[in-house]
Amino acid sequence: MYEHLKSQTLPELTATLKALGLPAFRGKQVYTWLHKGVRSYDEMTNLPRDLRALLAEKYPITPPEVVRRQESAKDGTIKYLWQLSDGNCVETVLMRYNYGNTVCISTEVGCPMGCAFCASTIGGLVRRLEPFEMLDEVLFTQADSGLPISRIVLMGIGEPLDNFDNVMRFLELVNSEEGMNISMRHISLSTCGLVPKIDELAKRKLQISLAISLHGPNNEIRGRVMPVNRAYPMEELLDACRRYFDATGRRIHFEYAMIDGVNDSVRDAKEILRQMKGLPAHFNLIPLNHVEESPLKPSSRAAVAAFQKTLEAGGITATVRRTLGSDIDASCGQLRRKYTKSKE
Ligand code: SAH
Repeated sequence: MYEHLKSQTLPELTATLKALGLPAFRGKQVYTWLHKGVRSYDEMTNLPRDLRALLAEKYPITPPEVVRRQESAKDGTIKYLWQLSDGNCVETVLMRYNYGNTVCISTEVGCPMGCAFCASTIGGLVRRLEPFEMLDEVLFTQADSGLPISRIVLMGIGEPLDNFDNVMRFLELVNSEEGMNISMRHISLSTCGLVPKIDELAKRKLQISLAISLHGPNNEIRGRVMPVNRAYPMEELLDACRRYFDATGRRIHFEYAMIDGVNDSVRDAKEILRQMKGLPAHFNLIPLNHVEESPLKPSSRAAVAAFQKTLEAGGITATVRRTLGSDIDASCGQLRRKYTKSKE
């Protein structure tokens, strides 16, 4: 059972409060307040004062603090660098799409996966986030920005399937009716391809969208930029994707960062078409965001366009991801990286 009240489900929290001698309706009151993003028990105005004091002492709320907040002048994207109660920092990005405000949350402090193009993994994994810490990213981004959030993508710092149980609990909490009540269909989870965990996720039959970071048409190229490919080669990954589709009926999204001269030729696109046979898929092509520490460069516009055309001609829908917040380093781990570096 999770210690932190905000990581507990409503029945669990009710039981926790019952053990303190409190009636069930208090559980619902406290749960509702916590999931509104209060910063202190004193905001829970329908609780007696002495109960607020007791809870504050036993179960401190520990909201994250804003260390940096950057707003894009171009598209209104807001990026937060939060400091957690133990001093570690994570990033959350708020994107304003016409279909709804979407937050991109981090699931770990740092990342163990070691992808060559990604800023989040440079310092390795520091620790995994607790369910309430992921929830806090959503709650306090909403509170600070004043913008109602209706969608979540687990595409920030960290590998969500490397933090499986905590992420599953987070999904349950954020989806709960008495909480933020965000529909599973409005949540996307992105993974670098941890095959056994994809199978475990399939068993849960959630209505979330699953995104796979592919970034290569075969083991040779993918293995060059994604060390995880050594543990789970592409054929195994794509088989897991087929099983996932069979179990859930949900079409899978593939993320593909276009890297100049590495994975962006028409030949690469044709190889993808062969690999994807029989797998309903959608591709998001993302021109690589340049990371200071890496020699890898984004593909040219022309290469991206030709790649997209080849996929579409072969029957795979492909969109080129708009790069929101490019003026504020709003991609994966860059802000945290700069901040940690400045303190070194
Ligand atoms: N660990 C998960 C969640 C991260 S999602 C995963 O790998 O899917 C973030 C997405 O951005 C992933 O697809 C990741 O591969 C991609 N990404 C990371 N660094 C990038 C960069 N410099 N340019 C473009 N995409 C990048």
